[in-house]
Amino acid sequence: MSSTWILLVFISLAVAWYLGYQARHKHVIDKKINLPRDYLVGLNFLLNEEPDKAVDVFIKMLEVDSDTVETHLAVGKLFRRRGEVDRAIRIHQNLIARPQLDKVYREQSLFELGQDYLSAGVLDRAERIFLEVVSVKDYAIPAYRALLDIYQQEKAWENAISIASKLAAATKKNMQPIIAHYYCELAEIAISNKQNEQADQYIKNALIADRQCVRGSLLQGRFQMDKGDYKSALRSLKGIKDQNPDYISESIDALASCYEALNEEEQLVKYLMQLLKEYPHVPVVLILSERIRQWKGDKVAANFVADYVRRYPSIRGLHLFISLYQSSTEGRAREDLLILQNLTKKLLADKPDYRCVSCGFSGKSLHWQCPGCKQWGTVKSVDSLEECTT
Ligand SMILES: [Zn+2]
Repeated sequence: MSSTWILLVFISLAVAWYLGYQARHKHVIDKKINLPRDYLVGLNFLLNEEPDKAVDVFIKMLEVDSDTVETHLAVGKLFRRRGEVDRAIRIHQNLIARPQLDKVYREQSLFELGQDYLSAGVLDRAERIFLEVVSVKDYAIPAYRALLDIYQQEKAWENAISIASKLAAATKKNMQPIIAHYYCELAEIAISNKQNEQADQYIKNALIADRQCVRGSLLQGRFQMDKGDYKSALRSLKGIKDQNPDYISESIDALASCYEALNEEEQLVKYLMQLLKEYPHVPVVLILSERIRQWKGDKVAANFVADYVRRYPSIRGLHLFISLYQSSTEGRAREDLLILQNLTKKLLADKPDYRCVSCGFSGKSLHWQCPGCKQWGTVKSVDSLEECTT
């Protein structure tokens, strides 16, 4: 398969060589034309199924004729796209090593080599090249994009912030929501290192970069809870529904803990009832039904959930209803409900909790950067997505 493909490369090279020859030897065009000997040697290697040696010959042919630079660049790119990065690297390195190579081609070869290293995961070399190429006007924007990719992979968030700002200036694209995520990444590292002051500053920077940054508010709320400042935490967490209601479910548990710590359980129920009218999300029902169950028993809680499921049918809602209702039944009815409960449990186990609205990646946990398409803030809870469409 690989040999066949390289054979095609050789044929294209022969055509390129022939066109160059024709251009330079117009006066002798009618004479018999012989292909370079190396071409035949390369073909021979291919026929003997030695593609690597064939590539070496192919590279060497450039010394014979500089009119084939464009072909080499095209072939290098094709090698990379096919995942044969080592070969692409050899071709581009060989081009750059030629002192007489035109400046435009040198810059292009360098950019391509950077892409090769990026594809191969040799990030430090790719970084060095893109930092050089970024000063070339035509390559500035793609080089910034490549650098951003590198810094994200390396989790070098400070560098990512700096490059994202430059990319925003060059493209006039709003990068603030992504920059806010970078600050949140830094804040999470600082929190895990117990560097509280730094964490506080990073969270503030995230919310300055993007006031709608849900992740920033969540971090702020949890950070304030850790300090015992539940009132401030409540303010931060309650703001999330206005920033982006798709993430309400992420704040509910923390909200309930704050009210509990403040001994304001009644306020919690009042707040959740109000929230449920605006945003009928399952996690709100879960927390509320648990409170109702503790205060008024299983039956009242089951009626509350039944009312919700009737209006907003969902498997999770149904599962919750069965669990609550089951305890107030006995005999055959109880057995039947148990079967149903096992069924809904199984359905829920197979169902993803989160899904990316951009690429469809799904899983059981929330990723702020989608592992599939690498976009930020596109993974959302399936409940909120389903409820948005009903
Ligand atoms: Zn995605």
